[in-house]
Amino acid sequence: SKILVDDQIIDRKNLIDIEDRGYQFGDGVYEVIGVYEGRPFMMDEHLERLQRSAKEVQLKLPYSMVELRNLLNQLVKANHLDEGIIYLQVTRGAASRWHEFPGEDVQPKTIAYTRAEERMTEVEDQGGHAVLTEDIRWLRCDIKTLNLLPNVLAKQEAKKNGAVEAILHRGETVTEASASNVFIVKNGELFTHPANNHILNGITRQKVLELCRKNNLPVHEQTFTVKDLLAADEVFVTATKSDIIPILEVDGKQIGSGKPGNITAKILQEFRSLIYELVNA
Ligand code: PLP
Repeated sequence: SKILVDDQIIDRKNLIDIEDRGYQFGDGVYEVIGVYEGRPFMMDEHLERLQRSAKEVQLKLPYSMVELRNLLNQLVKANHLDEGIIYLQVTRGAASRWHEFPGEDVQPKTIAYTRAEERMTEVEDQGGHAVLTEDIRWLRCDIKTLNLLPNVLAKQEAKKNGAVEAILHRGETVTEASASNVFIVKNGELFTHPANNHILNGITRQKVLELCRKNNLPVHEQTFTVKDLLAADEVFVTATKSDIIPILEVDGKQIGSGKPGNITAKILQEFRSLIYELVNA
């Protein structure tokens, strides 16, 4: 397959410097963009978030949004990608290992590749289980950086328990999940953690908020507790490419009826229509 290295699309091979700061410090930012029927979904939103992440860690992106969009579109075409994801990463470049930023002469390193993936309709329709784990991450979870070890450990805990996600909580407050945002439904109203430094403001999350408002479903960007989560009528998680996954059980405790709820199903249906509209535009 082809990969993007800086502004060149080339055959995949290893050419990452062992002193790349992404490799040594997790010093970089990234995005994962869904591709449906050959079309990147909400690419501009992802690229805007990348720009914001880069700014927050004082990393100067080497390419403009327009250049990145063109390069990624070229990459999708070069790989004949129909369904899957684009992974895009920019690190602070390769330099002799000192913690502080390297000199101006060191260029940030941009790479991207694509991965074919089937649509996850089964788990989206049928739902899955989740486990609860303490959110041990730093206090800038709003930045999409390469430092994912706490997320990796949480997801592994989920996998070990046959769950699809690990839902994170800071003390009593549910923040998000290891690689997705969390919504609960109670008495016909939706709640999700506000977009502050404690969560990544998911692109899927933002779209779901928009869909709720369009469909007159009351939605609140308000914190809720682990107790609220366990007492919810419905729980679902949102993320790129897995879209919306109903959560039927948390730490072995049944949520609501133990089946995907009506509001979750409605939002999933609306979200799929949106994808359908995009790929047929
Ligand atoms: N929260 C975390 C910690 C994530 O890693 C992700 C991305 O996978 C999300 C939320 C969902 O964000 P998005 O909908 O933009 O994929």
